Amino acid sequence: MIICDTHCDTLYRMAVQPDQPLDVTMERLRQGGVSLQTLAMYVGKGRQGDVEGLFAQMFRQMELLERQGWKRVDDPSEARDGQVAVMLSIEGCEPFDKGLHVVEEYRRRGVRMAAITWNHENTLAYPAVSGDTRGLKPYGLEAIRLMQEIGMAADVSHLNDAGVWDILEKCEKPPMASHSNCRALVSHCRNLSDDLLREIFAKGGYVGINFWPTIIGEPATIDRIIDHIVHMYEMGGQGKVGFGSDFDGIERKPEGIHSPADFPKLLDGLRRRGFAEKDVEDVAGQALLAYYRRIAV
Ligand SMILES: [Zn+2]
Repeated sequence: MIICDTHCDTLYRMAVQPDQPLDVTMERLRQGGVSLQTLAMYVGKGRQGDVEGLFAQMFRQMELLERQGWKRVDDPSEARDGQVAVMLSIEGCEPFDKGLHVVEEYRRRGVRMAAITWNHENTLAYPAVSGDTRGLKPYGLEAIRLMQEIGMAADVSHLNDAGVWDILEKCEKPPMASHSNCRALVSHCRNLSDDLLREIFAKGGYVGINFWPTIIGEPATIDRIIDHIVHMYEMGGQGKVGFGSDFDGIERKPEGIHSPADFPKLLDGLRRRGFAEKDVEDVAGQALLAYYRRIAV
């Protein structure tokens, strides 16, 4: 079975907190049967920090992993059962503040998904935590249209609602949320409202479930994670929901879920909840593969 995960902050942790133990290691990815792990380059303090220097460091960490034998792919269709591969994303489009040429450069370097904001305003848009009700900035709309034209998915996790609506209404391709849950179950700005979920799924988007207990709900258990998947299915998400763990980005984890080695426990949980094997395969990874086929250029 192909298992995919659309978000972890491992490259950031390697670059900035090299003394911290990692959740995501090759051994655990193998143990969990993960075929495709997306590695996010996370913007951290944003414009208050040295954005260019930070991203250069994370690109270097990726090169280091490749020299150690990690396989990096440019498209999810290259994921294979029984083989671990990784794909690059960014969390926070601050590098694109410098101009559209950077969007193209990042795509050439293998970035296939970009979270428009993290928790700071940038030249593209406003984050959910700001409470700002303004939509995308003109440059944001331009940058996202270019991203979609060259095969970089627009990731709306962390983006404010008005920004997500703008992408849904003004851009050609459906967005994804790499690591977000249901606001109907846990009222938190990082989660997606039912209206947004319905529209994201109706347009052919994708959502990866985040394992952060704060937005899963307490007590955070495997069953609580599955509650969010069930609710997304009720919003039209069948075949459009997967995992976006946020490993190496979350300090606390759900009971029984410590690292990628635990993905099979979640799949067993889905089966116990009555999910058909086809749906288990979709949530495990096929939903993400199908999303990338829908947004292919
Ligand atoms: Zn995040």
